[in-house]
Amino acid sequence: MREIPLTSPLIPNIKEYNEYLINIFESGDFTNNGPCVKELENELKKYMGVLNNPLFCNGTTALMIALKSLNLKGPVITTPFTFPATVNAISWAGLRLIFCDIDYETMNITPEDSLECIKNSEVTISAILPVHTFGTPCDVQGFQELAYDYGLKIIYDAAHAFNVKINDTHIGNFGDISMFSFHATKLFHTGEGGMLTYNDSELDIPIKQLRNFGIKDEKEGSIIPGINGKMTEMQAALGLCILGKIDEEIKKRKKVFELYKSFLSGIPWIKFLKIEKNVQNSYQYFPIRIKIFRNKIYEHLKNNGIQSRKYFYPLCSDFEHFKHLDSIVPNAVKVAEEILCLPFHGDLAENDIERICEIIIEEGKQ
Ligand SMILES: *Cc1c(COP(=O)(O)O)cnc(C)c1O
Repeated sequence: MREIPLTSPLIPNIKEYNEYLINIFESGDFTNNGPCVKELENELKKYMGVLNNPLFCNGTTALMIALKSLNLKGPVITTPFTFPATVNAISWAGLRLIFCDIDYETMNITPEDSLECIKNSEVTISAILPVHTFGTPCDVQGFQELAYDYGLKIIYDAAHAFNVKINDTHIGNFGDISMFSFHATKLFHTGEGGMLTYNDSELDIPIKQLRNFGIKDEKEGSIIPGINGKMTEMQAALGLCILGKIDEEIKKRKKVFELYKSFLSGIPWIKFLKIEKNVQNSYQYFPIRIKIFRNKIYEHLKNNGIQSRKYFYPLCSDFEHFKHLDSIVPNAVKVAEEILCLPFHGDLAENDIERICEIIIEEGKQ
């Protein structure tokens, strides 16, 4: 039986990668903001139309640095329906967190529910860390107004939203800072890697110092307790080779997306992700919600060699280290019981998609 993986990373042309490697080996520039990192940063700046976009060793470290750079003191409101990286980064930055419930439709936290959390909190909230879950943009306008009214910072986890735009504006242009992950499971990747985007250029100095041990210069040395968040040349070279393949991969994923929808349409107990007309699909995951048979279908797919994922179950609010927060998040509980991400990448064959859908439909009938 042939296994079908959940995802399959884009693999660059080895000859092209080799060209970069030869340059790296000849120059001995392996890291410390070398030519490949600079070139990738420039290419991504153009791709997203953002002002500042430093690169990092991974998305989680980038997020920790983003939180540190804003000098936050009070708790941070965030979502329980996310990858552990989002919420653990808040803890690593030395901040308390408050879980806010999500909207059942978008699976994102909202400004309205965040406002409730602000009102119910005895201490002053310093920031909100919403996730553009599965590439669905949060209510960026609403969060901006809330931030203005309550003097809050907004840091978006945009790990799923590499190519997402609202109208013609790239998602990396909203909030104070956005974080992108370039992990190999993401649409665009550098093996491991990450990026922050922000339009306030004043953040550039603290963010880059925090990325480099907090070092200001040779004379003064380290002036803030920074860490090492630098991207290597080998990572950046991988990204440069992969960036040229993104458009074609998106085209292929679009086809996979449409095939799934056609095979599964009209099944009353399956709910698709809703993508608004003015939003560009992220083509990062293919999440569906299955009202009653989710676990049964997950097992049956697994027994047939098909890898699916209950992203994001268990909820972060149920992690041992966050249980004491006694979070009340009924929508998130419901979504986590229904969610299933199906195999999704450009090279998924039509007959494989058909087989996956048949298994789901059959199992649901029983
Ligand atoms: C992938 C991911 C991250 C973590 O990024 P890394 O680059 O693997 O550190 C953070 N948040 C979300 C929602 C993710 O999916």
